[in-house]
Amino acid sequence: MTIAHNLERIEKRIASSCAVYGHAREDITLVAVTKTVEEDRIREAIRCGVKHVGENRVQEMLSKYDSYEGADVHLIGQLQSNKVRNLPGKVSLIHSVDRLSLLKELERIGKREEFVFQCLIELNIAEEASKAGASIEDLDRLLDYVETCEFVKVRGLMTIAPFVDDPETIRPVFRTMREIFDKLSKVGYNNSKMDFLSMGMSGDYAVALEEGSNMIRIGSAIFGERIYTGV
Ligand SMILES: *Cc1c(COP(=O)(O)O)cnc(C)c1O
Repeated sequence: MTIAHNLERIEKRIASSCAVYGHAREDITLVAVTKTVEEDRIREAIRCGVKHVGENRVQEMLSKYDSYEGADVHLIGQLQSNKVRNLPGKVSLIHSVDRLSLLKELERIGKREEFVFQCLIELNIAEEASKAGASIEDLDRLLDYVETCEFVKVRGLMTIAPFVDDPETIRPVFRTMREIFDKLSKVGYNNSKMDFLSMGMSGDYAVALEEGSNMIRIGSAIFGERIYTGV
């Protein structure tokens, strides 16, 4: 399958979900996940209309940076504090903020570089021990800290749902995310706004959209199965 064809199929599914739930297509952001994807294929996706690309590793993002021309760059993978200094001016949204120490480093580097980081708080709703993400109990503490920041803005929430064969079984995870998102929307923080609910990947984005996601992160359904070369 070609990239163009795959994108068309995904667009159709987004359109039908918009039709059912009364959303406009512009309300949904498609992030094409380009980890392990070669630069010429990234450029091809952007020529086919991709406006947002997502990488999960800072090093890989930096090395392929030129190929993202014409698209906004999202960082979606676990972020080590010592990599934050590479990010000012390069990333439009960090999806994976999950701990206080990282927020502190974002604020410190943001201040030094005069760059305001746009972030999502990543939640580990299913409380999988193997996964990154803050617990629901941590959330208030993180958002309270963000209220003291000048160089960090929270724009919403992100989650990586457990990998399952039948995406129906994780519908409750998406629904819980949506409930938290709606609740936080009403709080009236100065530095946190609930604009983006980032959930849904190749295997489960239709269910995520049904449950109110407005930002989906799709890799293999666009580019084919990933081939990891041992680096
Ligand atoms: C790889 C990755 C995706 C995309 O996964 P696919 O199943 O290939 O669509 C989405 N989000 C994150 C955080 C990822 O690391």
